[in-house]
Order: sequence, then structure tokens, then C-alpha cells
Amino acid sequence: MHLVFFGPPGAGKGTQAQKLISDFKIPQISTGDILRAAVSKGTELGKQAGPLMAAGKLVPDELVIGIVEERLKEPDCKTGFLLDGFPRTIPQAEALDKVLSKMGKKIEHVVSLEVPDQVIHERMKGRGRADDSPETVQKRLDVFREQTSPLKAHYAKVGLLRTINGVGSLDEIYGSIRKQIGA
Ligand code: AMP
Repeated sequence: MHLVFFGPPGAGKGTQAQKLISDFKIPQISTGDILRAAVSKGTELGKQAGPLMAAGKLVPDELVIGIVEERLKEPDCKTGFLLDGFPRTIPQAEALDKVLSKMGKKIEHVVSLEVPDQVIHERMKGRGRADDSPETVQKRLDVFREQTSPLKAHYAKVGLLRTINGVGSLDEIYGSIRKQIGA
């Protein structure tokens, strides 16, 4: 199963992804998690990404594309994967298609979790992460709207977009995801 999880920060992608990966035994590839690990280790990547992340901005496409390309070559991705937080721009989506087609693979479903901004602000208040201050949350929502939502049209056009109402109980949401991906 080759999935992309798509939605604004705080939409619940991480939580739903956890359930899916444990039920389907596929790895979750979260570029946000990989970048946060690099920041806390103080690697070269972390030094470049850290200030951008703290400001709620996107990290340059080349950096995240490189991370994902390497990660997809790992043996645990053989039977599938769930991409969480990638792609976030059209160039990233195009790069992903290229990398996958070289590997003889393709994305089967793009799961879009839809949650109104107001609900997101409420949810993020309780999370307490360094990049979760109200200003950074707003910036990340703006960046999502400007740079990432155009991807919806891109994936709708190729028939891969599965729109999910991200407001409700965890089980309800998980149920609608499973239904939409036919699993
Ligand atoms: P996330 O945990 O997915 O919300 O990501 C946290 C932060 O990491 C984002 O606000 C960006 O600064 C950076 N980031 C994660 N994934 C990407 C990506 N695909 N493209 C650019 N920046 C990213």
C-alpha cells in the first residue's frame, strides 16, 4: 500500500497514520519527524532546517526530496509506505512521481484530512511543541494554504485524492479513511 497523508498541521495526520501503519505493517515516513531528529542531533541538515521550521516556513525542496528519496530505498519500504507531511509543494510531488516510477511504484491514494482553521488552533494549544506557538501555527496554516493546497487539485486531476472529514472521533475518522482507500 502506497499512501500519502495530506492535511494542515494539527489535522491529526500523525495519529491516524499510526493506526494505519500498525494495521497494515508499513513504515511511516514523516519528513517533519526526520527533520526534528536532525535538529536535535545538530547535524548539518538540522542546522539548515531548524530556523525555517521554528519560523513555520518550508525547508527547501532539494533537502526534503533528498531525504525521502534515500528513505524510500530502505528495505522496509518494499511492501509499501505512508508518507506523512510530504509532498508539500508541486515540485516535491513531481520529484516523488519520478523517484517512484524509477522504482516501478506509484502512489495509490492521497488521503486529505480536512479540518477548519479554528479547530486546528484549538488542538494546537494543547500540543506544546517548539514550533507550535500561535504565531508559528498561523504561519504554517498560511504556508499550507499557499504552497501545499494546490497539490489537492494536482492529485484530484489524476484521480488519487480521497477527501476525509477530519472532525469527529478518532475511530470515525479512521473508519472513513479505511473506507475511502478500500481497505
Ligand atoms: P510537520 O511535522 O510535517 O508539520 O513538519 C514540521 C516542519 O518541518 C514544517 O513546518 C516545515 O518547516 C518542515 N517540513 C516538514 N516536511 C516538509 C516538506 N515536505 N517540505 C518542506 N518543509 C517540510
